[in-house]
Amino acid sequence: MRSSSKAKADSLLDKSLMKDFPKVELHRHLEGMFSIEHLFELSLKNNLDTPGDFNEFKKMFQFPKDSGPDFLLFLSKFKRFWYRSYEDIDFIVYHSVLTLKDEGLIYLELRFSPEHFAEFNDFDRVKVTKVVIDAANRAAKEIKLPINYLLTFNRMFQTAQNMIELHQKIDKLEIPKIVGIDLAGDEINYAPELFIPFFDYIQSLNRFGIDIHAGEVSEATQIWSSILKLHATRIGHGISAIKDSKLLSYLKKNQIYLCQCITSNYQTGAWVESEKHPIDQLYRQGYPVCINSDDPTIQDTDLTDDYIKCVRFFHFTAQDFYNLNINAINAAFLSEKEKSQLKKLFDIKYKEFLKKLKH
Ligand SMILES: [Zn+2]
Repeated sequence: MRSSSKAKADSLLDKSLMKDFPKVELHRHLEGMFSIEHLFELSLKNNLDTPGDFNEFKKMFQFPKDSGPDFLLFLSKFKRFWYRSYEDIDFIVYHSVLTLKDEGLIYLELRFSPEHFAEFNDFDRVKVTKVVIDAANRAAKEIKLPINYLLTFNRMFQTAQNMIELHQKIDKLEIPKIVGIDLAGDEINYAPELFIPFFDYIQSLNRFGIDIHAGEVSEATQIWSSILKLHATRIGHGISAIKDSKLLSYLKKNQIYLCQCITSNYQTGAWVESEKHPIDQLYRQGYPVCINSDDPTIQDTDLTDDYIKCVRFFHFTAQDFYNLNINAINAAFLSEKEKSQLKKLFDIKYKEFLKKLKH
């Protein structure tokens, strides 16, 4: 006869159950989570030079399930040519955010790059920002999901001075739900030091959390630089931290969280042995980490798939996921009062989830 704990572990592998685990997510790109059906619809409407067959279209847009890690292939999936009007942006954002209702999320920090939506048509970046947030807010309200936003700035497309100028314009909109600033893009060829003036400026405003992609494909020194020179209080991926024990102690002491993404790390080649992903060791040794999806549509997965990988590879239990979500709440760009409200909600939802687990 199977033991009760084995039965519980097995039920955590059941996606239809695990999708209801209450989740807090801090690292997800809007450009990487589009509703594929609506993107297809948009491409047909705009007569884009993309496959007219839906399955072929999916292949073009998503990382192939049977492919090994391939960083360039992964990057090639991010295309910027979809939109011909602000209405197109509204359409894809609204429908994409609606799909979040099936992932068990209770709070999400969603990031997007105004540049991504604006570049092809040279749209007004400030208007784009407003259109994206208005559309996302509308959908979030429908599905009753609290969402805050991070603005992504890309190392490859903007200098520090460009970033300051754009941010100053967007800041005039006074959008309360923009809670943080993200730096993404090519870590290898664009060192953190290039962006010191921008993050000094952001830090001086004292209103935004700073979350930097670092140590994904670069060494731990970039994580140090992101913290010490760019004022990061949260790190995207931070895979290479595992090789630097001094850094790990620093992260723990200062509660600087690594937002890690197992599927993404495999597909980009950042960490190809998913079964030995650093999140297992880091979590068990009490370092500040949390689970995130990154770009679920590009990856052809969702956040629940990443949770199931944690069960399969690391034997994480419901209690482990509880702890990891408490980490995410602690790392969120929320006030202490908002965090304590979110913890209360999470506790209620967690107890409801436990009742569904087999005994
Ligand atoms: Zn990312």
